[in-house]
Amino acid sequence: MTAVRTVLVSGASVAGPTLAHWLHRRGMRVTVVEKAPAPRPGGHAVDVRGAAVDVAERMGILGTIREHLTQTSRVHFVGPDGRTRAEISPTMDTGHGRSLEIVRGDLARILREATPADTEYLYGDTVTALEEGPDGVHVTFRHHEPHTFDLVVGSDGLHSTTRTLAFGPEEDFAHYLGALISISTVPNHLGIDREAQLYNTPGLGCGLIHSPRFEGAKAVFLAHETEPGGLDRAPEEDQKDYLRKRFTGAGWESDRLLEELAQAPDFYFDSVTQIHMDRWHRGRIALLGDAGYCPSPMSGQGTTLAMVGAHVLAEELGRHTTPEPALEAYEARMRPYVRANQGIADTGLGFLAPRTRLGLATRNAILRLGPLLTTLSRLDTRVARAAEAIDLDAPAPQDPPRHA
Ligand SMILES: Cc1cc2nc3c(=O)[nH]c(=O)nc-3n(C[C@H](O)[C@H](O)[C@H](O)COP(=O)(O)OP(=O)(O)OC[C@H]3O[C@@H](n4cnc5c(N)ncnc54)[C@H](O)[C@@H]3O)c2cc1C
Repeated sequence: MTAVRTVLVSGASVAGPTLAHWLHRRGMRVTVVEKAPAPRPGGHAVDVRGAAVDVAERMGILGTIREHLTQTSRVHFVGPDGRTRAEISPTMDTGHGRSLEIVRGDLARILREATPADTEYLYGDTVTALEEGPDGVHVTFRHHEPHTFDLVVGSDGLHSTTRTLAFGPEEDFAHYLGALISISTVPNHLGIDREAQLYNTPGLGCGLIHSPRFEGAKAVFLAHETEPGGLDRAPEEDQKDYLRKRFTGAGWESDRLLEELAQAPDFYFDSVTQIHMDRWHRGRIALLGDAGYCPSPMSGQGTTLAMVGAHVLAEELGRHTTPEPALEAYEARMRPYVRANQGIADTGLGFLAPRTRLGLATRNAILRLGPLLTTLSRLDTRVARAAEAIDLDAPAPQDPPRHA
């Protein structure tokens, strides 16, 4: 196998531009193909935590990220009357670790701006076929001319096309966690300021989140459901119908939030799903971020995994003269880190939407006992530990001698 000089990266959100930055620093030429017609602003809040903070610092963007924080500093768990039953501060200021919350679109832009000017971005296109040959991976695009690259990296998210083309159907790797989630932009009709309000009934959660970085606020719905029943792929109207069936009359502001969904410019609905794979590479095709190891929104660690994974992958490609040992080393270093961070999701789901009345009362009672005794503080500690659980400078296991 020959060395890697040209790389196609599919997906320009978090993982893709981070990888493009680091590959360029190692002298490789990068093309990024993105399905969206243009960079997408906005979106939900994501977290740059633990080792990902170091990655951001090494990229020289930590200061810029700090200038764009969501500033959402409290979560109020409210009752049907809107009165606060319990409240917490997100990880940011509990002293349990390094955590920076930022809107996904802001982070994607900052990361993209950190890629050099000669990085080629192909917006509004997608890979339609991948064929590996002796001289690299021959890539067919929907719109652009076909081209051969030394390496292809899929960073195209939970529903990755690269994964489907190179590894098989999503069902083979999807691990459903038993809940459906929706998040959309709505007016801030409660006039809340830099806080989130979350209302629960057993198995359900709905809330309103405000940040000065959002247009308005975000309405969130979370519902336990034994099977997704195809709803994750259903037409938008069916998904909204489902939410109406589950949440109408649930209490608090649920009916108002459901009404607002009709005008939401960015309605999002999906299953809470992780991606579990035995291998993240095949030949000269590799997966990165949610495409290879989505931990689900319930872990809050997807962004961190995407940024750290990009750093490790680029480092290993720089260390080895051929892709195979580099990709093996990437997997060996990332696997324990991914396992630790995917492992948090169940606790996160149980915390945000307890299944039973008793679970709900217990959560709120524990939260009222104070920060040192709270479930959150234990969850926080687990989140912080998992986010730090990789040594960015460690040599890969059985690392061969470095090449100049
Ligand atoms: C509702 C919700 C809440 C979340 N909350 C948090 C949180 O609190 N904290 C946190 O850290 N993470 C959170 N996440 C997860 C986080 O958004 C992801 O883990 C993170 O964005 C992963 O980055 P990525 O680059 O791997 O994938 P993505 O951000 O999913 O990006 C994939 C990119 O690939 C593009 N793409 C898709 N298909 C193709 C194709 N065929 N060809 C070309 N391009 C394609 C997409 O348009 C997109 O730009 C949340 C996710 C959701 C959905």
